[in-house]
Amino acid sequence: MKENKIGLYIHIPFCKSKCLYCDFNSACSKDHLIPGYFDALKHEILLYRESLAGADFATVFIGGGTPSYVDSKYIYETVHWVKQNFNLAEAAEVTMEANPGTLTVGKLETYAVSGINRISMGLQAWQEPLLKSLGRIHTSEDFVENYKQARKAGFKNINIDLIFGLPGQQLSDWEETLYRVMELNPEHISCYSLKIEEGTGFGQKLEEGKIEVIDDVLDREMYYLAQKKFGENGYKQYEISNFAKEGYVSEHNLIYWKGMEYIGLGAGAHSYYEGERFNNKPDIEEYIGFIERNVIPRENEEVIGQDEKMTEFMILGLRLIDGISIRQFNASFGEDIFHVFGEALGKLQKKELIKIEADRIKLSSLGLDMANQVFLEFI
Ligand code: SF4
Repeated sequence: MKENKIGLYIHIPFCKSKCLYCDFNSACSKDHLIPGYFDALKHEILLYRESLAGADFATVFIGGGTPSYVDSKYIYETVHWVKQNFNLAEAAEVTMEANPGTLTVGKLETYAVSGINRISMGLQAWQEPLLKSLGRIHTSEDFVENYKQARKAGFKNINIDLIFGLPGQQLSDWEETLYRVMELNPEHISCYSLKIEEGTGFGQKLEEGKIEVIDDVLDREMYYLAQKKFGENGYKQYEISNFAKEGYVSEHNLIYWKGMEYIGLGAGAHSYYEGERFNNKPDIEEYIGFIERNVIPRENEEVIGQDEKMTEFMILGLRLIDGISIRQFNASFGEDIFHVFGEALGKLQKKELIKIEADRIKLSSLGLDMANQVFLEFI
């Protein structure tokens, strides 16, 4: 793929109920806003049409929230509208997030017809008590059923999202989850270590002493186990938390990690375009109101200067297992990477947190474990 491609993110902020760990911009009990929200999305596309006439979109990611919660006609119309008004590459990766418990065969068939070619399904954990404790609305049987339906509907590129380090989770639970997921043979697996955020259900439970954060050593054991098991079963780790079979890396996420441009549509969606970073107002009603008045409700507009761009290049690029290219850094910024970050790189190399091999700088295995500490050196 060309490096000048641009991504499109479309946010669907509706969910059936709120998961206890969730700090995404998502709402339940606001279903009455769904029709107006999709009208606003179409309208936002029109508002962008002229200024994005020269942009070539290589990926679309419909995320949430739970895009599979709403009537699939809205998704169909939105994708259709994107194709009509933006330049979407013929071979574009078009992903949609879906949650078990909100999917049907009919919906999946509509997604396939609309041109969605990648489904990202949230499983998170296998065991019923853990799913319940997370506030998920589905069982693992629901998940398997929906997964099989997605295959039947023709999806050949499926991601499964997992979370580890859950309160009360044992290493054996995690091992079973890995085993069950690999049995299904998805093309891509994302697994993130749980971070309990303030303002979430888990955040409150933690404050009240009702749950405990998992032991750090166990959290790392779970991560190593995933790396080992996925590696043994043909999944190549290509980012700190992402594993894929050959040819199935997430092109859309690569746009973020490579510091390339993207436009976000919908409430709270973030964009990075022509050197500026901004996001839409997150409140759904406010977003709809602004769009109805022909205004894209941008906030936090910030021009990204050269220093910040260089820092982001390092922080985002080092998330990738292949790391960053020294030549690319030097050519993009007209500066020598060792002149700009020599001190940080020297320190990290001494601590064996990074490896410098020919043209590439990458995290070491130790660095993968302590990535946040590495990233701090560039700030
Ligand atoms: S389904 Fe996803 S977006 Fe919705 S509440 Fe759960 S974690 Fe949040």
